[in-house]
Amino acid sequence: MAIYAHPDDADVAAGGVLAQWALEGCAVHLVVVCDGSKGSHVPQVDVRSLREVRRQELQLASDLLGVTTIECLDHVDGAVTNDDTLRSTLVGLIRQHRPEVVVGPDPTATFFGGVYVNHRDHRETGWALLDAVAPAAAMPLYFPDKGEAHQVHQLLLSGTHEPDVVVDVARTIDTKVKAVLAHASQIAGDAEGIRDVVYGRAGQAGHPVGLSFGEAFRSVELSF
Ligand SMILES: [Zn+2]
Repeated sequence: MAIYAHPDDADVAAGGVLAQWALEGCAVHLVVVCDGSKGSHVPQVDVRSLREVRRQELQLASDLLGVTTIECLDHVDGAVTNDDTLRSTLVGLIRQHRPEVVVGPDPTATFFGGVYVNHRDHRETGWALLDAVAPAAAMPLYFPDKGEAHQVHQLLLSGTHEPDVVVDVARTIDTKVKAVLAHASQIAGDAEGIRDVVYGRAGQAGHPVGLSFGEAFRSVELSF
């Protein structure tokens, strides 16, 4: 299961590994917390059509990756908060789909290279998924009306400053490029430029461990 804030986040952060798992026959469940309705630099943009366009882009990208189910929680961009309501929803989805692995943003990473502040929605979603996985979903007295307790075996957190696992995504890197490109409303520049960026980041993650293309994560193996 992948839990991310915005419609394009999973593809950018973990599209290679999600496509790889789908190829291998795994069920891949994607949860998108926000509606993408502030993903534009144009002040006059029609928010309702932007939300609809982003929903279509998400469907297209997910079809390319081979995602099994998509759950859109439709929080307004910028308004997601790690509260009881969000945790309860995530616990319900985790208990329903019973994933072995949950992939999502590392909420501890705030600043990147002196040029980027990690989006609040990514951080709030990251904290909410951590709290939902460990311990809430695994313990029956948390949200007892949300199904039978389920222990997730492993967390893989992307966008991290402390990666300790690199997954080989050479087989699916071009699928990842296509999935990223499917989010046309979020793309500035041409397809070749985007491909070069995706290749470049995957090369940076993979080269230190001898891979052509990798995706790096902080791994947490939870006891069960
Ligand atoms: Zn995002």
